[in-house]
Amino acid sequence: MKKILVTGGAGFIGSHLCERLLNDGHEVVCLDNYFTGSKQNVIHLLNRPYFELVRHDVTMPYFIEVDEIYNLACPASPIHYQYNGIKTIKTSVMGAINMLGLAKRIKAKILQASTSEVYGDPKVHPQTEDYWGHVNPIGSRSCYDEGKRCAETLFINYHNQNQVRIKIVRIFNTYGPRMHPQDGRVVSNFIIQALKGEDITIYGDGKQTRSFQYIDDLVEGLIRMMNTPDDFIGPVNIGNPSEFTIQELANTIIRLTNSKSGLTYLPLPEDDPIQRKPDITLAKKILNNWNPTISLEAGLIKTINYFKELIQNETK
Ligand code: NAD
Ligand code: UDP
Repeated sequence: MKKILVTGGAGFIGSHLCERLLNDGHEVVCLDNYFTGSKQNVIHLLNRPYFELVRHDVTMPYFIEVDEIYNLACPASPIHYQYNGIKTIKTSVMGAINMLGLAKRIKAKILQASTSEVYGDPKVHPQTEDYWGHVNPIGSRSCYDEGKRCAETLFINYHNQNQVRIKIVRIFNTYGPRMHPQDGRVVSNFIIQALKGEDITIYGDGKQTRSFQYIDDLVEGLIRMMNTPDDFIGPVNIGNPSEFTIQELANTIIRLTNSKSGLTYLPLPEDDPIQRKPDITLAKKILNNWNPTISLEAGLIKTINYFKELIQNETK
């Protein structure tokens, strides 16, 4: 049994990771300031004896003895990370410094939840880990993108200078139950709109692409990455390479929900990447043939069922 700290553990990805680590027989400390996460996401874990929930902000130092740290704390959706850009940078940068300092002191292994956003609006397609990216440092997404890029730099420097055992994972668009219903991300927006019979809001012409990964595939990849030998530090892409246009996603969700929703076209947000698709050759090779196993349709059906229940409970 390992003792594991998950920062951002009450968020969408964090709550699934905590649950899986507990099911694997570990002791889990979930740390969160509830900015975008909630107790509700982990309420079903509160009666598990090896689960602990801590309200704390990673921009402040935190002391604990653990074997491993998954550093997930950071708002992930554009609406949330742009709400207070300075706080987003602080969370990424000071959060990384505090967690790396902790890892250094207690000799824990630490994994950083980095992002495909480090590639910005990519000029290389699909994106391989050796691509340096195309990021606007002063654009509306930069508080997130540059914060995450700086966090990667901090990880590498703590590794080189202080021999901290690090793992860097670049996560591509992930969806599933417990996504925040108001986070404005495309999967949650479209499903909620379709279920409520409201117009589906397509930004731009809907020809931009994304590659959508179901949450369970990501969690499997994160855990496999944490368990790789110490000399493999990444970065490694974890995502589903099946690429869809936003228009295709809208049509699929309308079909799966049997919705009568129409489509509304709205302006494309600033610096919205035109295309995104991970090259996962490295992940497959290093992570014991890890490969996404859940198709978009199968994952969407599970996510639709989750939001259906959420909406039903809202209206009760
Ligand atoms: P989320 O917003 O649901 O989860 C983030 C969690 O971090 C929330 O519970 C939030 O309350 C917490 N948090 C934010 N600031 C904090 C702070 N200062 N101190 C402590 N806790 C704080 O988002 P998510 O989708 O679960 O993302 C988790 C991580 O994965 C993030 O680091 C994100 O950048 C990364 N990621 C996610 C995706 C995706 O598609 N979901 C893609 C790439 C990277
Ligand atoms: N998008 C959209 N309608 C929405 C929400 C998002 O067309 O209601 C588009 C958005 O412009 C982007 C894509 O869907 O091109 C994915 O957006 P999301 O915010 O989910 O993730 P990210 O841009 O960070 O990949």
